[in-house]
Amino acid sequence: MAKTKTTFFCQNCGSQYSKWQGQCTSCKEWNTIAEEVIQKAEKVTWEVGEAKKAVSSRSRVAKPLKISEINSSAEARMNTQNGELNRVLGGGLVPGSLTLLGGEPGIGKSTLMLQIALQLPYKTLYVSGEESATQIKMRAERIHPDSENCYILTETKTQNIFRNIAEMEPDIVVIDSIQTLHTDYIESSAGSISQIRETTTELIKFAKETATPVILIGHITKDGNIAGPKILEHMVDTVLQFEGDRNHIYRILRANKNRFGSTNELGIYEMQGSGLREVANPSEILISKNEEDLSGTAIASTLEGMRPLMIEIQALVSTAVYGTPQRSATGYNAKRLNMILAVLEKRAGFKLGAKDVFLNVTGGISVDDPAIDLAVVAAVLSSNVDIAIDKRMCFAAEIGLAGEVRPVTRVDQRILEAEKLGFETIIISKYCKLPKETYGIQIVKVAKVHDVVKHLFA
Ligand SMILES: [Zn+2]
Repeated sequence: MAKTKTTFFCQNCGSQYSKWQGQCTSCKEWNTIAEEVIQKAEKVTWEVGEAKKAVSSRSRVAKPLKISEINSSAEARMNTQNGELNRVLGGGLVPGSLTLLGGEPGIGKSTLMLQIALQLPYKTLYVSGEESATQIKMRAERIHPDSENCYILTETKTQNIFRNIAEMEPDIVVIDSIQTLHTDYIESSAGSISQIRETTTELIKFAKETATPVILIGHITKDGNIAGPKILEHMVDTVLQFEGDRNHIYRILRANKNRFGSTNELGIYEMQGSGLREVANPSEILISKNEEDLSGTAIASTLEGMRPLMIEIQALVSTAVYGTPQRSATGYNAKRLNMILAVLEKRAGFKLGAKDVFLNVTGGISVDDPAIDLAVVAAVLSSNVDIAIDKRMCFAAEIGLAGEVRPVTRVDQRILEAEKLGFETIIISKYCKLPKETYGIQIVKVAKVHDVVKHLFA
């Protein structure tokens, strides 16, 4: 019997140490280093008999190719039958790729993956270490009860999973979740760094050798990291994040890393009793359909990836009751809000220094696009004077520190989206170059932030 071998891993970044220490030298986190047993068990070969033959017959051996011989257009993608997921992936699943789907517990990762697995036109193996087969069946009945291609396996040991894979030869494998897997080769508990690293390595080997795409579900810790190791994010090809406020009914799917496509695309789903519905025209849901004129709201024309999106910004400006005024922003950078308030004070003469300012992007999404700045200004000013902005007006411009209204990228697309949704006026920067002379919407060009006011409350 071999001596038990242990080593120390940082539970945050996965760095390895020979002895315990208080702070991780590589990621600087405190108290994240824990001891793990890494003694290798008796070498068990999982590829036994027929199973081994089955797997090796499917493996591909790569040959060196001249760059001119490589066919770039014919990169085969597997259509997932889910438009939003296809777009975020960059056109579908790449054979042999490893995709990690991360998100907070309870956000609906399993629901999304099960729903996609049930609708796939490929033979799919859904491995669950989280729920029993009966629980999954109950959930499947609400979504898509008559799938012929999806097989459910409740198992957490990779050796057993590979045995099943070798027998049934699935086209796609889904693992729910990576934190429940364990391999016989390592003795530490499931979810520990060494288990996650080892089981992921086994899955990568399987995916690359058989050209089978594998999708891993991973939980995210409170501070937004995939639970346990950052290392997992480095190992996989694509990291998808599923997010959204649990109290909201909308969910956003975005790629944080994508070896096979852009990371700018966004997928939007609506949580329903029967599963997650794809939202094809997100602008309609992100704008509230209030009939009354409400002060403090403004509509911004933004871009998420290639897709234009109309979003509603809400602001509440009120006199500060306590000494220091409060400023808070949901879905928008709080530092940027402070900057805009300072610009309004200094360049346009609005006295907001003694006011509380709260800002909210509706729909529970968060936006980085600087083109929403002008809508933020409009919402703040509207709330400050308590006069509503015309609902048929929208905004697309960035605000500079000198109080100038700056042009934004692809303004043409933003204008067309506003036009399509029936807006009558859009306010943009004076310095925007437009490809067309006329649009079906009135375009107001402004140069400075204080010029905006006269257009707001005409
Ligand atoms: Zn670390």
